[in-house]
Amino acid sequence: MNAPAVIDRQSEGDCAPVIKERGQREVFCGLTGIIWLHRKMQDAFFLVVGSRTCAHLLQSAAGVMIFAEPRFATAIMEERDLAGLADANEELDRIVDQLLARRPEIKSLFLVGSCPSEVIKLDLSKAAQRLGAKHAPHVRVLNYSGSGIETTFTEGEDACLASLVPEMPVLAAGAPANLVVVGSLPDIVEDQFRRLFAEMGIANVASLPERAVADLPGVGPNTCFLLAQPFLNETAHLLEKRGATRIDALFPFGVEGTSNWLHAAARAFAIDSDHVDRVLQPYQDRAHKALAHQRDRLAGKTIFFMPDSQLEIPLARFLANELGMVLTEVGTPYLHRTHLTQELAALPPGVQLSEGQDVDKQLDRVRAIRPDLTVCGLGLANPLEAEGLSTKWAIELVFSPIHGFDQAGDLAELFARPLRRRDVLRV
Ligand code: SF4
Repeated sequence: MNAPAVIDRQSEGDCAPVIKERGQREVFCGLTGIIWLHRKMQDAFFLVVGSRTCAHLLQSAAGVMIFAEPRFATAIMEERDLAGLADANEELDRIVDQLLARRPEIKSLFLVGSCPSEVIKLDLSKAAQRLGAKHAPHVRVLNYSGSGIETTFTEGEDACLASLVPEMPVLAAGAPANLVVVGSLPDIVEDQFRRLFAEMGIANVASLPERAVADLPGVGPNTCFLLAQPFLNETAHLLEKRGATRIDALFPFGVEGTSNWLHAAARAFAIDSDHVDRVLQPYQDRAHKALAHQRDRLAGKTIFFMPDSQLEIPLARFLANELGMVLTEVGTPYLHRTHLTQELAALPPGVQLSEGQDVDKQLDRVRAIRPDLTVCGLGLANPLEAEGLSTKWAIELVFSPIHGFDQAGDLAELFARPLRRRDVLRV
């Protein structure tokens, strides 16, 4: 087994040792986020300015969309564009004009940068300004990068939401306090949280993104925001720059995380915690019941997280604390300590963390440990399965409704299923 590149033992308290690695990576790029973002923002269209490779990635990741008129496409750059022989801006303007003439229901257009558009230094922010001015007020044109260079696939959502922050209406200093839940959640989960906030007594709640980009929430000094996902660093930073305050909490996975997240919001709005306990009790009881069933199957099983979705640390906390799984290593592409302070403190002491990726070294460790379950990218799952190791695709955790009390049992089931399949295959 190769030795880790750097071991960084944290000086503060019980923090776990962190292996920091940099090497070959096996992750999807930020374009992948379009698959769930376009479902969420129903008046938006995503136009990737990229190559045939980008178009193939989107087509295969979004295979089911062939039955509907999709709300994403790729403006394919040909070799002559890449060689600087054609005016890519003129071409882009022509494609956008055609698209908007054919699809008048589009209210927001995201120009999404890719590796090829960045290689030829096509300035999509200027293009968005130019096209936005041309098509105002009917269409808002925004841009962000989904490029795969040195990124991981959930960064696409962060970049997309960050592009929306400057567009959010200004709320004055005297405006009533409002809460913004940041992160794209399935509608059913968003509705459940809205009902819970209302029962707790927080009425002025909005989401970033809303189902229609046209309904962006306002932001000002009386705005508090809760992150629903741990990978929204840039978006959080920009919201703070606009005067909003981040509510620090665990992420809403499992009973522990969801309760902590909701209680943190209640504290920010000075709501009595006994009242919140009373509101949450029936939801917690139901979730505990759903988890008890899965706990029998998962307790004592070992799990290894390869760095992929950036959800790894909150999910590891949930699996260890609520289902009794044994964490052999928890890898994450980036360790955003500020947003993960409470998550890191809630992990079992001494858990081996790793940050960054050097895929061969990590695979060596997986093979040495032979965990019961490995959470990894699609490209690594098949080879590991062929070696008799059970795997879970990290990307499935981003596509599935997994937040909140009512989804806690389903989230546990996502980890129990591969183990059950292995047991069946062994019989
Ligand atoms: S990694 Fe780059 S070239 Fe490949 S699909 Fe993503 S943006 Fe396109």
